[in-house]
This record gives sequence, C-alpha cells and structure tokens, in this order.
Amino acid sequence: MIDFHCHLDLYPDPVAVAAAAMTSGAYILSVTNTPSAWSGTSALAAGSRRIRTALGLHPVVAHERRRELGLFDDLINETCYVGEVGLDGSPELKAYAQVQHEVFRHVLRSCSTHGGRVLSIHSRRAAGAVLDLLQANGDAGVPILHWFSGSAAELRLAVDRGCWFSVGPAMVRGRRGASLVALMPRNRILPETDGPFAEVGGQALRPGETGDVVMHLSQVWGVPPLVVQEQLAENLKHLGKLADVDARTAKATT
Ligand code: MN
Repeated sequence: MIDFHCHLDLYPDPVAVAAAAMTSGAYILSVTNTPSAWSGTSALAAGSRRIRTALGLHPVVAHERRRELGLFDDLINETCYVGEVGLDGSPELKAYAQVQHEVFRHVLRSCSTHGGRVLSIHSRRAAGAVLDLLQANGDAGVPILHWFSGSAAELRLAVDRGCWFSVGPAMVRGRRGASLVALMPRNRILPETDGPFAEVGGQALRPGETGDVVMHLSQVWGVPPLVVQEQLAENLKHLGKLADVDARTAKATT
C-alpha cells in the first residue's frame, strides 16, 4: 500500500506504530508539523527504504513556530520531501493569515533555492491563495495538494498548473470529496490516510490503511482494484522520477 501523508509521530505510541508500518511494507510519506520534530520523526523510520520523512511547518502553528524557519533551512538538505506546509483559511486563524503567508512563502523559496522538493500541501479554505503562491514560486518542486477541499474550478486550475493530489478514505466517503476525486487526473493521485487525525467509523486510520481509496477509485474509474493499484504504483514511481528523488520507489508494488 501507499500512504503519502501520515503523521507517524502523532500517534499515541509512535515507536510501535512506526515499527508496525515498517513491517507492513507500505510506502509512507511521514509528514511533520514543525522543523523541531523532524529529527525524532525521521529516527522512527531509521533504516526503512519505504518510509520517507518530510520536513514541515504546518500553517495551523505557523504563528507559534515561525522562529523555526532557520531550522527548516538548516534541515532542508536532509530530505527530498517537504510537508506538511501550506495555508489554512479557517476563521479562527484569520489573525494569522499574514504570518502563514510569510512562512509558506519562505518554505517555497527555500525549496526553490535547494533545487526543488516534493511538497505535501495543506490548503483548507485557502486553495486560491495556495495556488497563487505556487504560481509565484514555480520552481519550488512538485506540489501535492493533500485532502483538497476547494471548489471544482480551483481543482481544475490546480490540475492545469501541474498539481498532484493525495486522497484519503475520509475524503472519498463524503459526496463533495468524491466529486472532486472524480475530476483528478488518474496519473496524479496518491492515497493517504492523514492518520491519526483522519478517522473512519470513529477510529483513527492506521498508517497505510488506504484500501478504501483503492476501492473507491475502482468504482469511479470503472476498473478492477488491481488496475488501480498498478496505476498508483506507477504514479509513485513517476513522482520519484519527476522529483529526481528515490529510484528505489520504482519498485513500488503497493
Ligand atoms: Mn496532515
């Protein structure tokens, strides 16, 4: 399985969860919310070829953690993956819109300066602003919009601008999320859980628990689940080539 956005370090027992994730053979992008979390989270997956740890600064904590941008720059050469980063336009964060913007712009510029990264991007209630900043920083790398919840028009714009999408079980369950998924190019989708935050049936999703996404895409695309898995594995491989990252992911078989 592939899980391209999971917070391994935020489960109640990260060490056990990471060990189980390694044993499972799933390909996981382990995202972080702060630069100071990167080293410890990366250590959780030490020795794994299938778990990659992304360097992040989550928009929800941008105002509290902007002083960690220096650490972000210090660490960026340690990884080909950046996330969770982005913007969050929720009403309760309105006061911090400017700080979020500055932090995300700094992150994108740092990615550009260092040759581009694969980015896992949060865009809740801020899809338009995220797309604008990506447009202004076109050499930041390959943007993957995680749990996209903007409008269909914004989605089409994102597709036109080369964005990828990561999609989780909770997203495909809702009618709105499902209608957006149907508009996404098949060759630019990857599954995610967003565990432990995303839940299905009141249970936090475990790393790699993306089977519902495969079944959903099978229905939407009108092809057997095996064909979906092959497409997703191909997407992961292609992403690695695009980003000139890790040739070993080419062996992905889901
Ligand atoms: Mn997340």
